[in-house]
Amino acid sequence: MVTTPATGRSAPPLRAARMLLRHVTPRSLAALLAMALACLLYWLLLLDSQRGQLAQTEAQARLRATQMSATLAIQVETLVTGLEHLLRSLSTGYMNSSKRDFEHAVRSALTIFPPGSISQIGVADAQGRLVYFSQSHNAPPNGPATISVADRDYFHLHATRDTPRLHIAQPLLGRVSGQWVIPFSYPLLTQDGRFAGVVALSVSPDYISGYFREVLATNRDVAVLLLDDGAYLARSSMQNDVLTRRVPPDREFLRTPSQRHGEYRLPSPVDGVERYYAWHRVTHYPLVVSIGLDREHALQRTRDTLRDSLWRNVLGTVLILCAALWIVLLFARQHRNHELLAESGERHKLALEGGSLGSWDWDVGNDHMIFDPQWCAMLGYAPGELAPTLDTVRRLAHPDDRDKVLGSLDAHVRGQTEVFEAEHRVRHRDGRWIWVHARGRATHRTNDGLALRVTGTQADISQRVTETLLRRALLDNTGAAIFLATPERSIRFSNQRAIDIFSDDGRPLDGRSMRVIHCDDNAYETFQVHYRQLREGGGSVRMESRLRTRHDEIRWFNLHGTLLDPVQPDGDVIWTMIDVTERRRAEEALSAARGRLGQIIEHFPGGILVENEDGRVVVANQTLCDLFATTPTPAAGLIGLQHAALRQRFPREVLDTVLSHQTTSPGEALLADGRSLHATRIPIRHATEGVDQLWIVHDVTEQRRHEQTLERLASTDTLTGLANRHTFLERLEIELARIARGGPGGMVAMLDLDHFKRVNDGYGHAAGDAVLVHLAGILRRVLRREDMAARLGGEEFALLLPGTDAAGAATLGERLRSALEHSRIETFKGDIHVTTSIGLAPLAGDARTLLARADAALYQAKNEGRNRVAMAPDEDVPA
Ligand code: GH3
Ligand code: MG
Ligand code: MG
Repeated sequence: MVTTPATGRSAPPLRAARMLLRHVTPRSLAALLAMALACLLYWLLLLDSQRGQLAQTEAQARLRATQMSATLAIQVETLVTGLEHLLRSLSTGYMNSSKRDFEHAVRSALTIFPPGSISQIGVADAQGRLVYFSQSHNAPPNGPATISVADRDYFHLHATRDTPRLHIAQPLLGRVSGQWVIPFSYPLLTQDGRFAGVVALSVSPDYISGYFREVLATNRDVAVLLLDDGAYLARSSMQNDVLTRRVPPDREFLRTPSQRHGEYRLPSPVDGVERYYAWHRVTHYPLVVSIGLDREHALQRTRDTLRDSLWRNVLGTVLILCAALWIVLLFARQHRNHELLAESGERHKLALEGGSLGSWDWDVGNDHMIFDPQWCAMLGYAPGELAPTLDTVRRLAHPDDRDKVLGSLDAHVRGQTEVFEAEHRVRHRDGRWIWVHARGRATHRTNDGLALRVTGTQADISQRVTETLLRRALLDNTGAAIFLATPERSIRFSNQRAIDIFSDDGRPLDGRSMRVIHCDDNAYETFQVHYRQLREGGGSVRMESRLRTRHDEIRWFNLHGTLLDPVQPDGDVIWTMIDVTERRRAEEALSAARGRLGQIIEHFPGGILVENEDGRVVVANQTLCDLFATTPTPAAGLIGLQHAALRQRFPREVLDTVLSHQTTSPGEALLADGRSLHATRIPIRHATEGVDQLWIVHDVTEQRRHEQTLERLASTDTLTGLANRHTFLERLEIELARIARGGPGGMVAMLDLDHFKRVNDGYGHAAGDAVLVHLAGILRRVLRREDMAARLGGEEFALLLPGTDAAGAATLGERLRSALEHSRIETFKGDIHVTTSIGLAPLAGDARTLLARADAALYQAKNEGRNRVAMAPDEDVPA
């Protein structure tokens, strides 16, 4: 058993989900989409509303800051008005009442204002000398008069100003108290309005900041009191850091003096906290109150609320979407069930409507059997036409199947089987046998388990059986061995051919491992790769492989594997195997023959060219190229060329004479370069219609030269180089034939050296030879081109003089004779002088007679004393 990988376990639920998804209807998908869209819309609105809420909270924070700054401005105004009033009354009191009354006024003033708010009250004279000081315990040891405020700005301001007015100065470190104070001052004026000094009171910035702190909800918020030139007077927190500083000059209230109040948002230059600031000018005084509310703090609660709401909404949305998905899947499942139901209903309907399913009902005890109309129609009977008993079944069943059917039914009646089932033949009314599949089940049984009633169906399966038989016949009669292999590579089915080839005992191979057909275990394992290709690569593979047959013979097979069910790559595989051993052997033999032929062609001592029926070169060897190519050409370069294209490689005359389609075979050609070529063109007829052309070309130049030499040697006398007797006689025959045909006549002459024996005897045989060569030289010199001189043997010579008459021949003979007579041959033994006798005869009659006549004339010359020319007598010439 093959184990599936771990992922395989999750496959079924996944497959089920995928299956379910296939049943999701467009309508449910649309609904799901609409739901998702609604969620999206909801979320857009939600986020928008959250943004709105944040903006609203921000606006509220600003409003609160504005209101607080307005309120604080009024409170500051009230405080400062009170202080101004106090200073005015102190100024008047100091000038007009006694010192005791003044001190009394001061003390009561200090009690009216909240404790700690006014730290001290002092009076300076017109020169700035401190002449009165309210806090005695802090007074300088030398008395107030030692302290001067003449250098203070406010003193100088009051001294130079025309109209008396309250002045509020930037905080300074008190000279008397050593503490930070905000000086509020008013001038002292005499009755006639002259400047007489200043009354000043110091307000503690700590008091103001403490007051501010009480008003604020958190210490991250801030309240600030400023002079309208931007100088800090008090700050609810980090006051000491700012007391000598000013706000940056870009602040709204500095830039627009006419504006009474305003707001802005920025990070504080003091502590960096981002705040909503609202400022308000204090009516009648050069003061500005500013409230800053921490933005983060102001928005924090709203933000927290919004975040909570966001998470709740996320959760809600996810739940809603999951629910929607679940509903869609439920619908899909319902849809699928509907479809399955509809399908099975349809099948059922088809089966019943098609008349292929009849039903029966058997009351066993009473042997009453009801056959429905379809059951009857299946066998060609009308309802009611058949006897309603089991005997009808017995009667109609095929004799060969009868026992099997009734036995099976009997077993079911006795409770031995769960279901009655039989496939058998039944006689149709028209006499033919049809195959049916009967199936039934007991609906009632006795307590002993005996059936009381059995109902069932009967289907006409003739077509299926026929198809099965047909398929089996096809499978078994095909030339191919066919296997159906399981995923574990065991044989589920094999056809008869497969059994014939592979089964060692001739029994079916079903259930055995595919290993039985492989050569060895290794081959079996290696073959696994083809299964993988089959499953991964498109459901079909083809290859040739060696397999082991039942006779332990290894043979070649062409294998074709396909998936039984293409949609199930992991399912069974059909293997079709055809024995191709013979074909492969033939191919191998062919290949070997081709190889041999190739070698023969390549090493053939001649050029070979083969053109196919289309005139295209299919074979050419290097010798051919070497023989003809104008430039070095490899033989392979010719393959595929058309005949005409060979002109670019070979001289034209080669194609016209040697490799011509007109070449008669065999033929010889003499090329311009003097080479003799022997070419044979052989048409090769195919089994098909086509005819190939084969040229075999040999360079026979050397051979021809050799032959010519031999020929020349055979026709020539080796000593003198003149024609020999044989050649002379041949030529003589030709001339005689020509004359016999009416051609112009001619003469023949016979020469014999006189007393030649004496030369040999006197000077030696070599000298004799030299004389013969000497005579040949004279003959060559004296004769015309058309004449022929030959050495007939020994020291006898013959001349053929075509177109020469008797007189001409006599003259020639005389000239020859004379030339020889007057010549000499030098030897180391002295010069040799020889003469010759010549016999002449006209060309006529046959050669033998003619030569005899010339010979006779020669002897006549000898007899007449030698060294002379004699003519054969005229009368002997035949007519
Ligand atoms: P005649 O005048 O009657 O012809 O007298 P002759 O001596 O020439 O007699 P004949 O023709 O009978 O003799 C031929 C001689 O020529 C015989 C032979 O020794 C000589 N002879 C034949 N062939 C050759 C040859 O090839 N070379 C040489 N050196 N001598 C030859
Ligand atoms: Mg002789
Ligand atoms: Mg002689």
